Amino acid sequence: MRLQGKVALVTGSARGIGKAIVGRFAAEGAVVVVSDVANEAGARETLAAVEGAGGKGMVEMFDVGDSVQVENAVKNILAAQGRIDILVNNAGITRDGLLMRMSEEDFDAVIKTNLKGTFLLTKAVSRHMIRQRSGRIVNLSSVVGMMGNAGQSNYSAAKAGIAGFTKSMARELGSRGITVNAIAPGFIKTAMTSSLPEPVQKSFMDQIPLGRFAEPEEVAELALYLASDAAGYITGQVIGINGGLYM
Ligand code: NAD
Repeated sequence: MRLQGKVALVTGSARGIGKAIVGRFAAEGAVVVVSDVANEAGARETLAAVEGAGGKGMVEMFDVGDSVQVENAVKNILAAQGRIDILVNNAGITRDGLLMRMSEEDFDAVIKTNLKGTFLLTKAVSRHMIRQRSGRIVNLSSVVGMMGNAGQSNYSAAKAGIAGFTKSMARELGSRGITVNAIAPGFIKTAMTSSLPEPVQKSFMDQIPLGRFAEPEEVAELALYLASDAAGYITGQVIGINGGLYM
């Protein structure tokens, strides 16, 4: 029970990697806050699965890119649970397209959810963690933030931005007992990647030394480690989990 007594907020956890993270955290004793923007049925299902396995939690729906919604959500969670020990900034979207065809709206939407959302949540939650003098923040970056990817200039810019943001936050918050790290997954089997065309999936597969895509649960295991007391001396790191796709 590595997270006994902790309260963990995981954004975008109605499905995919976020869902796997809340499941893993709850199994280690954390009270989990399942949150998402629109998919309330998915969020309720995720919570039902947690509770079915003997875990505890709540659902709080909000848009990570909206500062008013973020402030209200954090207030509601603190009123209900009294504390937030772990924040996982997992919510993310893609709006892929080659530069010449990428609209300003698609660029802005990806930056708003992926990068600004991480900023807004970190600001709202770290205020409370600073008072608590402890906390763990885990941000979801991506391998394409490190190596780039044709057709994902908006997404890779946001994910590279998250790496820089993570390091700055680690420097600002370290003296308050808060660690801030990022996970940079490679190709993980979720709805986000299953929509990629077959040739794109094949070209990724050809470049992965381990010769397979990963399960969301494998990312959840790394998130659990970074969120646990065992990772107390790790901060400001961007840790790849990509089967060797990028070294
Ligand atoms: P997913 O699309 O399955 O899940 C993302 C969740 O975020 C969805 O439930 C969605 O509703 C939610 N969301 C979207 N916009 C939101 C908003 N404005 N506010 C709150 N929630 C919002 O994606 P996934 O594959 O599980 O990815 C999770 C994270 O991991 C993302 O940040 C993604 O960029 C990152 N990532 C995924 C992969 C991969 O291969 N799947 C690789 C690298 C990084």
